[in-house]
Amino acid sequence: MKTAVERLMDLLPEQDGCAALITSGKNRRYLTGFPSSAGMVLVTKQGAWFMTDFRYFEAAQLKIKDCNVLMYTRAAETLQQLFREQNITTVYLEYSALTLAEADDLENTCKSAGVQAVKDGTLDTILRTLRIVKTPQEIQKIRDAQAITDASFEYILGKIHPGVTEREIALDLEFFMRRNGAEGVAFELIVVSGANGSQCHGVPSEKKIESGDFVTMDIGALLDGYHSDMTRTVAVGEVTEDQRRVYQTVLDAQLAALAAAKPGAVCSSVDKAARDIIEKDYPGTFGHSTGHGVGVEIHEWPRFAASDSTTLLPGMVVTVEPGIYLAGRFGVRIEDMIAVTESGTENLTHSPKELIIL
Ligand code: ZN
Ligand code: ZN
Repeated sequence: MKTAVERLMDLLPEQDGCAALITSGKNRRYLTGFPSSAGMVLVTKQGAWFMTDFRYFEAAQLKIKDCNVLMYTRAAETLQQLFREQNITTVYLEYSALTLAEADDLENTCKSAGVQAVKDGTLDTILRTLRIVKTPQEIQKIRDAQAITDASFEYILGKIHPGVTEREIALDLEFFMRRNGAEGVAFELIVVSGANGSQCHGVPSEKKIESGDFVTMDIGALLDGYHSDMTRTVAVGEVTEDQRRVYQTVLDAQLAALAAAKPGAVCSSVDKAARDIIEKDYPGTFGHSTGHGVGVEIHEWPRFAASDSTTLLPGMVVTVEPGIYLAGRFGVRIEDMIAVTESGTENLTHSPKELIIL
């Protein structure tokens, strides 16, 4: 299996003297496996260089296998020297990840070395194409991150009862994840209960859990740079018929989308499978897409959305997360993460999703 750097080399335009300059932290880490707050990766058809400053140089030399590691004092000078040594005449910039000021700076660095800077989105498209399909090693990292998330869910079920606050539950989940090997949380964990549950991206508050509440937890661990993402809604004390019906509708929608997701399926059709079920009985209550890719970023391509005509390919990792949100009353969301395989999908999420009443 080729490394990410080798796959990027393959995708570079067939053009003498061309190079890709990767400047975003996410994509630097994606290519090298090395996290740092400063640095650049230059990739040509013939070679790859990771440049960083004194703070990261020693660690980078130890960790990075696929690139020559260089230390700079002035990044622009080191870059220009490399342009000359490697006879580089055209540099593709990671334009969508640069601020206007950064893009101007890089363009000036290129210009004064007689190199043309390309900021037409070519490199951004190449990186998206690369990252949308994961290697088996990447999927293993996501699987491991999800295993921690599954364990945290099992653990937290014993801690949810009337009187604890949403914030306490969120903190407890985060501590559990970090204690069990996570590098951090994949995103600010969401714990919302009762009427707060209708805010799909609500922030955990001081609200105490009450009997009769639905508690929605959207949680994920970060491991070795890879994210996991799962949502479960559980009930506390008792549930009404109404709550039960909403929960079952979301579950039916989620199962329908999971069944629709397979290699060759179009992303929008997976979204439709879930959306049709919810729209029938609860029109207008499901206001977000059915899922998103997960990898070195928590939200990446593809999307299970009406607007995404991407065809599912083996190696893609995507969430399936329909929900129903009844303003001022309650909300339900159920989210799994799947990896598309040659013959179907592997559900990376193992937490139960039949209605749990605590
Ligand atoms: Zn989520
Ligand atoms: Zn998600």
